Amino acid sequence: MSIRINKDNCIGCGGCRQVCPGSLLYADEQGKSEIRYPQDCWGCTSCVKECPVAAIQFYLGADIGGRGGYLYTRREKNYLHWVMVGPDGTETVITIDKHKANAY
Ligand code: SF4
Ligand code: SF4
Repeated sequence: MSIRINKDNCIGCGGCRQVCPGSLLYADEQGKSEIRYPQDCWGCTSCVKECPVAAIQFYLGADIGGRGGYLYTRREKNYLHWVMVGPDGTETVITIDKHKANAY
């Protein structure tokens, strides 16, 4: 599993770099995030949750039936929308109320 960063969307806030437990993310010469050693990403999705502009896509490997699908998040006030894009482009959205996260 690994992530892909859409640098066209990245605003260089650095949030993802602060939360990656493996220190896998770094700033390129433009201040935008890049991943080193993508094979070392263990898929915790912390960076995906942290990104305010949906610039990080988390790929769902064949080992969990992802078949090329991916996840990203969109923020809306107290809500975090997890968007799963399937191999055929269809989207499924799961919305989490961040104030009630322990209820899920
Ligand atoms: S998914 Fe987790 S381990 Fe992988 S790059 Fe993001 S924060 Fe780091
Ligand atoms: S959290 Fe998103 S916008 Fe901020 S540096 Fe990382 S990829 Fe770029």
